[in-house]
Amino acid sequence: MSDRIRCTCQRCTIRGLMGPVVVVTVGVLFLLAEMRGGYFDFGNTYPVILIVIGLISLASALASSEGHVSSVAPVPPAVPPAQGAPPSPSNAAPTSYTGQGQ
Ligand SMILES: [Zn+2]
Repeated sequence: MSDRIRCTCQRCTIRGLMGPVVVVTVGVLFLLAEMRGGYFDFGNTYPVILIVIGLISLASALASSEGHVSSVAPVPPAVPPAQGAPPSPSNAAPTSYTGQGQ
């Protein structure tokens, strides 16, 4: 239920697969450990998770980001103050920052 803009470029699509693929991989490894055990014990197969994460990262880095849409919502244009009204202090940009510990 998020209002975030979902980018559908290749890079973001592949990056979005990271979570589900890692969960499926962990599930398969646990299944193997339960069914076969021994050599396929989770202690022996956990590096597969790192390999999968690395491959997905590599694929997303190599994928095209053409048509990428930034998730940052566009800032609405500032509304100028009404004629004759004093400028609101909340809209005034501070010109100096004091006490910032510089
Ligand atoms: Zn994108």
